[in-house]
Amino acid sequence: MNQPNRPTAVSSPIAVIGAGPYGLSTAAHLRARGLPVRVFGEPMVSWREHMPAGMLLKSTPVASNIDAPQPGHTLVDYCAAAGLPRLITDEDIIPVETFAGYGQWFQEKLIPDLEQVRVVSVDQRPGGGFELKLDSGEQFTARAVVVATGLSGLERLPAELAAAVPDGPSPAGPMSHSAQHHDLTRYAGCELLVVGAGQSALETAVLAAEAGARVRIVARGRGSVAFGEPPWKQPRLRPESPFGRAWSLYVLSYHVQGYRHLPTPARHFLTRRVLGPLGAWWLQERYEGKVETREVRRVVTAETRGGRPVLTVETLGRRPQMLAADHVVAATGYRVDLAALSFLGHALRARLAVSRGTPKLGAGYASSVPGLYFTGMLAGSSYGPLMRFVCGTEFASPRLAGHVAAAYGA
Ligand SMILES: Cc1cc2nc3c(=O)[nH]c(=O)nc-3n(C[C@H](O)[C@H](O)[C@H](O)COP(=O)(O)OP(=O)(O)OC[C@H]3O[C@@H](n4cnc5c(N)ncnc54)[C@H](O)[C@@H]3O)c2cc1C
Repeated sequence: MNQPNRPTAVSSPIAVIGAGPYGLSTAAHLRARGLPVRVFGEPMVSWREHMPAGMLLKSTPVASNIDAPQPGHTLVDYCAAAGLPRLITDEDIIPVETFAGYGQWFQEKLIPDLEQVRVVSVDQRPGGGFELKLDSGEQFTARAVVVATGLSGLERLPAELAAAVPDGPSPAGPMSHSAQHHDLTRYAGCELLVVGAGQSALETAVLAAEAGARVRIVARGRGSVAFGEPPWKQPRLRPESPFGRAWSLYVLSYHVQGYRHLPTPARHFLTRRVLGPLGAWWLQERYEGKVETREVRRVVTAETRGGRPVLTVETLGRRPQMLAADHVVAATGYRVDLAALSFLGHALRARLAVSRGTPKLGAGYASSVPGLYFTGMLAGSSYGPLMRFVCGTEFASPRLAGHVAAAYGA
């Protein structure tokens, strides 16, 4: 896709921005190829601070490994090292605390020199390479940059909901985004509306209800609250994939390379639709009878009255209806938008080829700016829905590291 722009300072490192599963895995692969790497970010912060305590992972153990170049770094290896019960079968469910501990252990073993600082700016240097500034005040040159910032800053709040919170969503105000919650016990005794029907919405609703809140889910469309089949009920005659048995899931999991050659509308459609909203099989029992479901055509407006949020919805019968509560949690997901990555300099951003706000990537996760790479969710529109999940590290990290080594190795 692009010709490597070899920097003058070949001794400068590769910078990896992000210390979640993708950043850690990519950095481990780069290091295994003998490349000098500096890695920045808070280890596993999305999992430790932006997901509710008590959450269980929807992905199965086999689909929850952070890919490493050498053996001994799987979730099972971590469980053995930490003296935890081994999580192996599709019926073993992973607590978020265990997964965050796994990521931290992976980091301590493979990236012990992780720098827990923020990158505040990335700009291209005239002679090649990039100039990075850190919030510690340090400034340095990198020969290549990998952006692995995951979900950070990509929380989506639809305009009709955002109108109710001009100062932005907050757990202490009338409305929050699901990513702002770690401790849902703060809503014990409160009335809560949770907008959304994905796993995050349904699990937030269940955890809040179990903590003593009265919870209603506001979901768009008839039958929109649905749960997956347990492993023992998966259709036997369809191929297996990390997400269950289905041909579409199999193709998207094992033919990732071809995804970016599909026409743009097809890619965006698949990224949105495949693996769409569906609760985990083990959540259904905890949901039914504890959380009320309000199926609506759409949320029309949101406002606050006397400090309380009020949603005006259009019912399935197309009548307006008002729903009031003490607090609204918008479990409305994430949207990749390069504009949200404020650390990318304006000139750099202007040079990036994008498709609907997302970077267009070529082979090896390379962007149109030589030396700048994107992985994880940021690579989803080029490499498919697999990139939204931890198991995508197995495909992404060795390929990205291979491309960097070929183009920017010493
Ligand atoms: C509620 C919920 C449940 C989920 N459950 C699952 C599941 O069961 N299985 C699954 O596979 N996936 C699940 N996911 C998706 C999962 O979050 C992603 O697959 C995974 O976290 C992506 O990893 P990542 O490394 O790309 O980003 P993240 O884990 O989001 O990490 C981002 C990193 O970037 C760093 N960072 C950001 N900005 C900067 C900066 N300017 N400077 C330095 N560092 C920076 C942060 O400190 C952090 O270290 C879930 C997501 C949500 C929201």
